[in-house]
Amino acid sequence: MNQKLEQQLEVILGESLDKASNEELYIALLKFTKEKMRTMNRNSGTRKLYYISAEFLIGKLLSNNLINLGIFDEVREVLERHGHCLTEIEEIELEPSLGNGGLGRLAACFLDSIATLGLNGDGIGLNYHEGLFLQKFSDYKQQEKKNPWITDNSWLTKTDVSFEVPFHNFTLHSTMYDIDIPGYNQGCNKLHLFDLDTVDESIIHNGIQFDKKDIEKNLTLFLYPDDCDKDGKLLRIYQQYFMVSNAAQLIIKEAEEKGIDLYHLHEYVCIQINDTHPTMIIPELIRILTEQKHFNIDTAVDVVRKTCAYTNHTILAEALEKWPIDYLEKVVPHLMPIIYDLDRRVKRDFHDPRVYIIDDTNLVHMAHIDLHFGYAVNGVAALHTQILKESELKLFYEIYPQKFSNKTNGITFRRWLIHCNHKLSEYIKELIGAEYFENAQELEKLLAFEKDEEVLKRFLDIKQEAKKELKRYLKMTQNVDIDENSVYDIQIKRLHEYKRQQMNALYAVYKYKEIKKGNLPKRPLTMIFGAKAAPAYIIAKDIIHFILCLQQLIEKDPEVSPYLKIVMVENYNVTKAEKLIPACDISEQISLASKEASGTGNMKFMLNGAVTLGTEDGANVEIHQLVGEENIYIFGEKSERIIKLYETGEYNATNLYESDTLIQELVDFIVSKELIQIGDKENLTRLHKEIVEKDWFMALLDLKDYIQTKEQMLEDYEDRKSWSKKMLMNIAKAGFFSSDRTITEYNNEIWHL
Ligand SMILES: *Cc1c(COP(=O)(O)O)cnc(C)c1O
Repeated sequence: MNQKLEQQLEVILGESLDKASNEELYIALLKFTKEKMRTMNRNSGTRKLYYISAEFLIGKLLSNNLINLGIFDEVREVLERHGHCLTEIEEIELEPSLGNGGLGRLAACFLDSIATLGLNGDGIGLNYHEGLFLQKFSDYKQQEKKNPWITDNSWLTKTDVSFEVPFHNFTLHSTMYDIDIPGYNQGCNKLHLFDLDTVDESIIHNGIQFDKKDIEKNLTLFLYPDDCDKDGKLLRIYQQYFMVSNAAQLIIKEAEEKGIDLYHLHEYVCIQINDTHPTMIIPELIRILTEQKHFNIDTAVDVVRKTCAYTNHTILAEALEKWPIDYLEKVVPHLMPIIYDLDRRVKRDFHDPRVYIIDDTNLVHMAHIDLHFGYAVNGVAALHTQILKESELKLFYEIYPQKFSNKTNGITFRRWLIHCNHKLSEYIKELIGAEYFENAQELEKLLAFEKDEEVLKRFLDIKQEAKKELKRYLKMTQNVDIDENSVYDIQIKRLHEYKRQQMNALYAVYKYKEIKKGNLPKRPLTMIFGAKAAPAYIIAKDIIHFILCLQQLIEKDPEVSPYLKIVMVENYNVTKAEKLIPACDISEQISLASKEASGTGNMKFMLNGAVTLGTEDGANVEIHQLVGEENIYIFGEKSERIIKLYETGEYNATNLYESDTLIQELVDFIVSKELIQIGDKENLTRLHKEIVEKDWFMALLDLKDYIQTKEQMLEDYEDRKSWSKKMLMNIAKAGFFSSDRTITEYNNEIWHL
């Protein structure tokens, strides 16, 4: 077998394996893997799922594809025999930045699980050339650079599928690219990414600026172009319609090719709308069925309603898209008669303006289209779904109780354990066998080793190895030194005030001051952050600035630096996550209760034996229930109280700040002489003012409880045996968070494939 693999690779290389460079080997492996996937069985079935999403944060694909194809170990051995290292070869691969954060990563995990479960389902999205920006730090600030990832040899395969997408006064011709998604020991599915041949990277200047009006050249350049201004908003509508018009045409083409009677489309097709970005698929399908397939509109609405399901990802108002009607009129006038018709239907049947599609300020509520004209809606964690039912979408829940359900998010263990933490996954296999690769609940068998000293010791050793590995990686990539004997405390996620990186940074200030006072910790602490801020999100960028200034201050202070270190990892992405998560001791999941719909980072950390420090929010609630009081550190106000505080408007940050000397001391440090000497006074003053006067996500409310809980956690860390037991409990209970479980639930309760 090995012999054959060696020969195959040498044929592709055109030279001997010994001589090949890492670049050549990467390309040979890419071609080899692509060919293998091209000839694989495709998953099939009567009903087909189309998972439409503006984001697919798929990460690097080489290792994962090799794992799913079942040839990872073999390939690695062959390479090693010829003096090569797969991990180094993997460095050559560029990470496709086709997503932003959790929502896009979820879509990627789902594709993996859909394929692994042998289900008939493809993803549909856009082929952004630059994706999300590349983050650099300079002068302690975030700089945005373009992030090209498409090279001559990539995982994309150009197809001859192309559609005409009509806009107001021009038509665009799309090109469809495919990426194969192999299941673990299963058939293959596809991710279809639509693009335009006319897109032109050369219009980008000064970082990520470009002409927002030149749609033919800019349409698929960037994910989420800045939409602060009108042109940015119009561009997003262009992108969204381009995505769904292609999707609708592909779905109908495939249905017709299979000879499906379109009047029964819903029996053969199911469309999952991932957040509101693909919502226009509903009116677009109705438009095509009525204009081109001679449906009467009632029938078209009925068929489409039985085909589409919607996932809600957030209760933050800013994320529930509402487009001004005249913007839609400008971009997609041909869709408007349908949207007006849908709005008339709602207004005919219901008399509460709060459920209308078009409100009295002429905003079109995209989520309302999904809620009225889809057959299912789900939240992404138990608490989130409960909040949707009880408050955010209460009116809709009263109208359509049967449409609502919960599907707690999950992650694929192939990437987030087997690939990123091979040593741990192999050791678990030694203990409980390999069944857990395909049935994650098997991890509970680890509970039998709860008191086994040798096993507990091994868990600590494996963690220590991972910590050394991260130390090497950070030295190599950012030239920073971290102490592998310190506690690794990690918060990596998009930068947002509700996720409260600012609260974690205020903890760092607390620790800094304690050390200055001579209260030295038993063991050094390494606080690691990783986060991109949306380019137009000013306060988020100020928080990054605050953290980077603190990092520098502590670094240069010989009294403090032996005990405390802050590292902000540049350009946090999937690749970085895979390096950071296995090494983590403390997983920071500290969002304001009620604001994080689910979180999936929390699940990745748990699976890799980190202990959660978190609020009772999102899936943390379920983690808490699973691992029990002993094995998680929960602090802060509960969601019910927070929701009340928002309702009554009684939260007052200024009062808290003025009445508590510790809080005041910590917050005022943001504008201290020390920090202003390093950083930018304007940014720091703005952040200080925001926290003192507004603190919309109530960091000050939970700050003291947070500090106390973290101190307790650091103390408990010193009992290494009992800490290792906590690690074991977290790993053993993580099975519930496999995306295979999530997808099984979607399939049983929504898709019925
Ligand atoms: C998992 C993941 C996220 C989501 O993290 P949360 O902590 O759930 O917000 C974001 N970005 C990347 C790169 C991820 O891998």
